Amino acid sequence: MNIIIQKFGGTSVATEELRERVAKKVICSKEEGKAPVVVVSAIGRSGDPYATDTLIGLANRAFKEQSSRELDMIMACGEVISAVIMANTIKALGYEAVALSGLQAGIITDKYHGDAEVVQVDCEPILNLIKEGKIPVVTGFQGATMTGDITTLGRGGSDTTAAILGEALKADIVEIYTDVDGVMTADPRLVPEAKVIDNICYDEIYQMAEDGAKVVHPRAVEIARRGSLTLKIKNTFSDAPGTIINGNMGFKGSSYRNANEDNLLTAIAHKNGITQFTVSFNEDSVEESEKFMNELTNKHISIDLINFFTDRKVFTVDEKNAEKLELLLKSLGYKFKVTAGCSKITAIGHKIRGVPGVMARIVKALASQDVKILQSSDSHTTISCLVKQSDMEKAVNALHQEFNLSR
Ligand code: ADP
Ligand code: MG
Repeated sequence: MNIIIQKFGGTSVATEELRERVAKKVICSKEEGKAPVVVVSAIGRSGDPYATDTLIGLANRAFKEQSSRELDMIMACGEVISAVIMANTIKALGYEAVALSGLQAGIITDKYHGDAEVVQVDCEPILNLIKEGKIPVVTGFQGATMTGDITTLGRGGSDTTAAILGEALKADIVEIYTDVDGVMTADPRLVPEAKVIDNICYDEIYQMAEDGAKVVHPRAVEIARRGSLTLKIKNTFSDAPGTIINGNMGFKGSSYRNANEDNLLTAIAHKNGITQFTVSFNEDSVEESEKFMNELTNKHISIDLINFFTDRKVFTVDEKNAEKLELLLKSLGYKFKVTAGCSKITAIGHKIRGVPGVMARIVKALASQDVKILQSSDSHTTISCLVKQSDMEKAVNALHQEFNLSR
């Protein structure tokens, strides 16, 4: 059926002029004989009248302790407004379009409000519209439970909607339109010479997204990988070719033995708002460690950059969990040290597997900028360093330059 999913982020639908641009891109697909299914985010970013954060603020002003069910109802409004306006913009250009909420589009989720997971998609409503020659315009970021309660899919949820619909409708491709030319070697807001990556594999973009590169949401990548779906990241504001995301690793088993090899790294990602904890332990007993971990699990505190030693445990948490954790540690009588205001910088590349000397280059590059590494960790394809947030920009640029990523 030649279905193509075209998802447009908040900045892409922010003004009338842009919405017209978006409508023309959709119409262009239709004219090429494809069946476009449009997914839209709420209009604009934080502070704009219909943006998600604005709606949450409005609800919080009336009553702070509202239920997550009602919070989901108000959050879902942003995309509803956006879908109606986008459908109208397409109609104004002479094409038939129909706005659909998540529920109307057949997106069924579990009942975890605020972070619901899609469990089923009923494709009928969308397929019927396509058969009638109409363009469905679906609200991103939301679905509904079996019993019809509105749910939202968590931050970046519109990317998830696009991937879920792509999988369910067996789309040829899922295009994610945003405000940059594609997936880049670093956030272009920090690194002006960051370069577009033409083709990237699921594993690498997943790592990048998990480690802070906002350009696509990790859950959308997971769904794409599961369904062997091709994603394309494109710019609404330009006609740049964009980035193709698929299973192609981009190199065919070539061995990299030397840390000075070209193209060793693919990208540098960063994540702000991290707090480091160092908790002292008197005795190195398994029971004590187990008890400690159970307490964290019970309080739903997930930890990262984990280094455990016999006399102390060092790890990080998202800063929004820091206060909760401090209270917990105090109540349990632990001695601990807190370092707030940190950033995690991650170097990503599937070619670094087993190559000696990569960390040495990272240490040297950061030292040359007087950036102190507070902690580090690595996997087969990543090396992460924790630094002070005030050093973040310097650190990302130093690594980008050290590994010649702008070439
Ligand atoms: P949208 O509203 O379209 O979903 P997002 O703000 O979620 O857009 O994602 C796009 C932003 O991601 C860009 O403006 C850019 O600043 C940021 N970004 C962070 N890391 C990267 C990267 N490696 N490549 C491209 N963009 C990135
Ligand atoms: Mg986004």
